[in-house]
Amino acid sequence: MTSPTPVAGLDGTYRHSCLLCRTGTDTGLGFLHDAPEWAVAGLTLLGLPPEEAETLVLELARDDGPATVVRVRVCEDCFTGTDLRTTAMTLGVAPDIPLYSPRV
Ligand SMILES: [Zn+2]
Repeated sequence: MTSPTPVAGLDGTYRHSCLLCRTGTDTGLGFLHDAPEWAVAGLTLLGLPPEEAETLVLELARDDGPATVVRVRVCEDCFTGTDLRTTAMTLGVAPDIPLYSPRV
């Protein structure tokens, strides 16, 4: 049995949808670092293939001064199944989506 493809949002995109299951969600997290590789690593831990993670970072990255900022929506159900769950990172509810930087 396959689950039905979720309907895109009113604007015809999956904006504000979970990165992994594409259902609408208010929760997410973000990555902040001067090297975009930090966000790529984070998305890879969320379960994206590395090439897909790199492409997505290029699409989503917002330059915030010297830093690259990438915010993604991820639902609680999906997040529970990712490798990020074992880190100190947690989801936040929009608009308070937390940004994580590498610990020095
Ligand atoms: Zn999800």
